[in-house]
Amino acid sequence: SRNEDIHIWVGDGLYPRGEAKVSVFDSSVQGGDAVWEGIRVYEEGIFSPDRHLDRLYHSAKALAFDVIPDRSYIKKAIYETLTANKMYSDVHIRLTLTRGEKITSGMDPRVNQSGPCLIVLAEWKPPVYDNKSGIRVISTSVQRNSPRHLDSKIHHNNLLNNILAKIQANVAGVDAGLMLDTEGFVAELNGTNVFTIRDNEVFTPHAHACLPGITRGLVMECCRDLQIPCTEKNLSLTEFYTADGVFATGTMGELTPVTEIDGREVDFDRGWDIFEDIQGQFRTLIPKYCIPVKEL
Ligand code: PMP
Repeated sequence: SRNEDIHIWVGDGLYPRGEAKVSVFDSSVQGGDAVWEGIRVYEEGIFSPDRHLDRLYHSAKALAFDVIPDRSYIKKAIYETLTANKMYSDVHIRLTLTRGEKITSGMDPRVNQSGPCLIVLAEWKPPVYDNKSGIRVISTSVQRNSPRHLDSKIHHNNLLNNILAKIQANVAGVDAGLMLDTEGFVAELNGTNVFTIRDNEVFTPHAHACLPGITRGLVMECCRDLQIPCTEKNLSLTEFYTADGVFATGTMGELTPVTEIDGREVDFDRGWDIFEDIQGQFRTLIPKYCIPVKEL
């Protein structure tokens, strides 16, 4: 595939895919101690880089990283990576910032001798939405972390609860796992946020136990623009089963309909028009919020 010949930014510069490596002493290997962002590149440019960098900085600050590279350095690394690979659309960037390399094994941040380590992995990946067939999901027994555990507002690399939820979805033969919070309300899917449509209004779970997704925030903005009421609310599984429409949101797939939850078909008869209006409005934000690669 086209992704075999890519160059990847690791630490201080670009390396061919086969030579792009982190140390076995890196904090991400020793404890999942890293933060990340998934960023999309459209024909119009990089989608909302500052929203992503804000979230990256907040995550690194919450984890008390000693050193955080400045915004212009990270943008330069993204620019260098995209131009070296001649990547100007249909690209997804996995940006990772690890705490850095340790002098010995272990979790203690004090044994870090250098850091942080920036990784810019840009791959050819068009958005993976399928608007006709949508996605099928199940609710999982794995819960989403609450602020009492590992705050879901930190976009960290410790993805194991999402991975366990995805494994349950895989075993059930569906596309994604719907994760509840510790109270039993719906939090999010294993890699996307979720919304319901009911009686011409839109709802989404509070951000207590989900990632504050950038697409989620923009969908709320689209609803305001379209004058569709959109409310953050505790939502039970029953409210998902009986909604007039359910959709997932994320950088990877934008807005994707959810067609089945735990074997119950989502009846979109009354919600489809609203879904399409919001999706159409979201597409208008792409040229508005993209920064051309050369202007980064
Ligand atoms: N929830 C989780 C758990 C995620 O990992 C992601 C994507 N990184 C999202 C939601 C969607 O967030 P965004 O809209 O910022 O891509």
